[in-house]
Amino acid sequence: MRIANLSGRLVLITDDQARAVDVEEASDGRFGADPQAVYERWAEFRSWAGSAELPQGQRFEAAHLGSPAPAPRQLLAIGLNYRAHASESGFEAPEGLPPVFTKFATSISGPVTEVALPPEGHTDWEVELVAVIGTRAERVSEADAWSHIAGLTVGQDISERITQLAGPIPQFGLGKSFPGFTPMGPWLVTPDEFDNPDDLELSCSINGEEVQKSRTSDLIFSVPALVSKLSAVLPLLPGDVLFTGTPAGVGLGRDPQRWLAPGDALVSSVEGIGELRQNFKG
Ligand code: ZN
Repeated sequence: MRIANLSGRLVLITDDQARAVDVEEASDGRFGADPQAVYERWAEFRSWAGSAELPQGQRFEAAHLGSPAPAPRQLLAIGLNYRAHASESGFEAPEGLPPVFTKFATSISGPVTEVALPPEGHTDWEVELVAVIGTRAERVSEADAWSHIAGLTVGQDISERITQLAGPIPQFGLGKSFPGFTPMGPWLVTPDEFDNPDDLELSCSINGEEVQKSRTSDLIFSVPALVSKLSAVLPLLPGDVLFTGTPAGVGLGRDPQRWLAPGDALVSSVEGIGELRQNFKG
């Protein structure tokens, strides 16, 4: 099952990915239009969506999609979760607990956007697999973790490195939270849609040149491991967003370093989900 946010309304995406079915209309108001609110009743919604007679739906444009989780109460993001990326960043791979930070919710956007580059910034790309929580997770074991995940989507952890690395300690929250720096989409795909949700190819390209490519089976802390370790500290709430970390190939780790420039087109994709398209302007 795929759900999306079409012009601010919760929709189901048909199997051919060509049409959207408005959930409030198709459920006669049993489920509301707010895309974020559905996670509070995730099990009930899955049950209904799996058995309802749905109308044909209507065609839509990707540019009208928003984030499938537009207003999470918590957005947790993971640093250095691929060995080659930890190495290119000049760090040892983490053991025990991964580095965790947040991206502030006002930076969340849909999958197809135009992003203003901060003036005189060094703006970088980070394609990531993103998991959205379906049912509250508190002290969850790895074995139970997937049952708490509503689904997976594609994310870009766009990062302005001067702000991020300024000061006596890194400013991850600010450097990664300029407007439009957290695109997600194009939709949320439930875990059962994947042959193996722990092994998905992810990649991104700039103006057609591939700059990152890896597989989520290379994650140091897998999605279940992250849910287990994070939920040992704090409860993960329905609709919370988890950016799982980026593989090698970011601009910061290149020689010479490379940053996004006005006119650049960044395309980010995860196997079995879809792609994001960000165009950058000065
Ligand atoms: Zn990241």
